[in-house]
Amino acid sequence: MIKYDTVIIGSGMGGLCCAYILAKEGKRVCVLEKNRQIGGSLQIYSRDKTIFETGVHYLGGLDEGQNLNAYFNYFGLMKELKLQKLDQNGYDLISFKDDKQVYPHAQGYENFIDQLAQIFPNERANLKLYIEKIKEVCDSFPLYNLSAEKKDITAAWHLQIDSKSVINSIFKDPKLQQVIGGSNMLYAGLEDKTPFYVHALVVDSYIQSSYRCIDGSSQIAKILSTNIKKLGGEILNYSEAKTFYFNGSEIESVELTNGERIEGNTFISGIDISKTLDMVEGSHIRTAYRNRINSLENSVSSFLVNVVVKPESMPHYNHNIYHCMAPDIWTGGNYTEKTWPETIGLFTTTSSKNPDFTENFTALAYMRYEECAKWENTKSIIPNNINYRGEDYEAFKIEKAEKILDVLEMRLPGTRSKIKSYTTASPITYRDYIGSRDGSLYGIIKDYTDPLKSFITPRTKISNLFLTGQNLNLHGIMGVTVSSVVTCSDVLGNPNLIEKIKNPS
Ligand SMILES: Cc1cc2nc3c(=O)[nH]c(=O)nc-3n(C[C@H](O)[C@H](O)[C@H](O)COP(=O)(O)OP(=O)(O)OC[C@H]3O[C@@H](n4cnc5c(N)ncnc54)[C@H](O)[C@@H]3O)c2cc1C
Repeated sequence: MIKYDTVIIGSGMGGLCCAYILAKEGKRVCVLEKNRQIGGSLQIYSRDKTIFETGVHYLGGLDEGQNLNAYFNYFGLMKELKLQKLDQNGYDLISFKDDKQVYPHAQGYENFIDQLAQIFPNERANLKLYIEKIKEVCDSFPLYNLSAEKKDITAAWHLQIDSKSVINSIFKDPKLQQVIGGSNMLYAGLEDKTPFYVHALVVDSYIQSSYRCIDGSSQIAKILSTNIKKLGGEILNYSEAKTFYFNGSEIESVELTNGERIEGNTFISGIDISKTLDMVEGSHIRTAYRNRINSLENSVSSFLVNVVVKPESMPHYNHNIYHCMAPDIWTGGNYTEKTWPETIGLFTTTSSKNPDFTENFTALAYMRYEECAKWENTKSIIPNNINYRGEDYEAFKIEKAEKILDVLEMRLPGTRSKIKSYTTASPITYRDYIGSRDGSLYGIIKDYTDPLKSFITPRTKISNLFLTGQNLNLHGIMGVTVSSVVTCSDVLGNPNLIEKIKNPS
């Protein structure tokens, strides 16, 4: 039986990046993926011959000289990715109920200020101050800036204050306060929780530059997979990891649901952390550590309506829309049945076959897992495990989809007449596809009131088990890419990976 240097569980962006880094460092790696399709949230799916994203609608920092561009260059992605730059003067358009004005988030720091200052001329100086604060926060994260410098930021101010408070302290105009937080669905922002650094890192990346993957972001997973295999790595789909087996205090192998065992010297888990701990039987992990991890709250889940539009009925939308129905943009996750959906994110795709028109769009609203708890004992993963969840579930989905479409009709009149067909995805759809506990959008919630509690390190209490993925530092493609470098630095014993990433051979 082969004994790998490193066995990686989960082929999401985090798992694939780790596999690439370690394979490039000469390690024999094997990635285990439970689904047919690799990529986790990079998966795509097709409806009426059009391609929908599962979870990566746009990427930031991809212009020449920017951070994600440098990382992607190292991973061999930049020269192959088919990308569409979103509208320079408004990659995100923020709008509100009963307000006809649409507010842009523009690319480029100066342009971001200029576009909003046209609408809020008295706030130009505050817009400048806001951008300075964002840059200050981002500068304190070395890996975000591809620097190997060691900085202790555990006492930094931006960990200990919430995003809404900082934004509201900078801007006088209540509408601009809302506009600045308007895309907070990108990090499931909550008024009493989300630290300012989360807002800053996510927003900064998109202000630098915003791109969408033409024909879907699964190309990222495909290119990475090809490059990993070229370096001698293996990726096994239909391989769901179930239980770790130990030799003394170290893991020796992982057993799959089909009974096969895969041996390795080190193991990296890129899946939901509590699910990782479920794979450790007995006393190898102390109850206190298990309890701490299991007590961490996950971010809210989502409900999506995936709409195929009639051919050539809708122009190509080269931006995303965030539309807020509630008086406050920071309350979206705390909706009631009556107020749902409080915020909707609308994301379109770019098709190489039909670049001048929108073939489809996804409308996303927050939804708590409990709403689907009734059907939690059903499971549905195409093509292996399709389980009809029942008529009441179908009715539930239609009711929710129609509510979202009603809101969209107000925001974009005429949308309904352009619909060819639609399907939906709920928290349990995400739970089943991504394998998380509760279909959470972005994993563990970061909380400014106790910032260190949600800080997960790649090292675990088991010396040869490491963690990676969106639960570590930050979610999103940028966050997960950076986390893979942190994880691999620990696995390899701190080689200067950043220098290698900056100067790839
Ligand atoms: C709806 C939505 C929209 C988003 N939009 C954006 C966006 O526009 N831009 C952006 O940058 N980020 C976005 N994100 C966030 C981003 O997609 C994620 O943070 C990131 O892709 C997570 O990567 P990951 O490697 O941590 O895990 P995942 O992508 O969750 O991958 C985990 C993988 O592990 C597999 N797995 C689980 N259990 C097992 C097991 N037992 N054995 C084997 N395999 C297993 C899963 O099948 C999956 O493939 C979005 C997320 C969602 C859900």
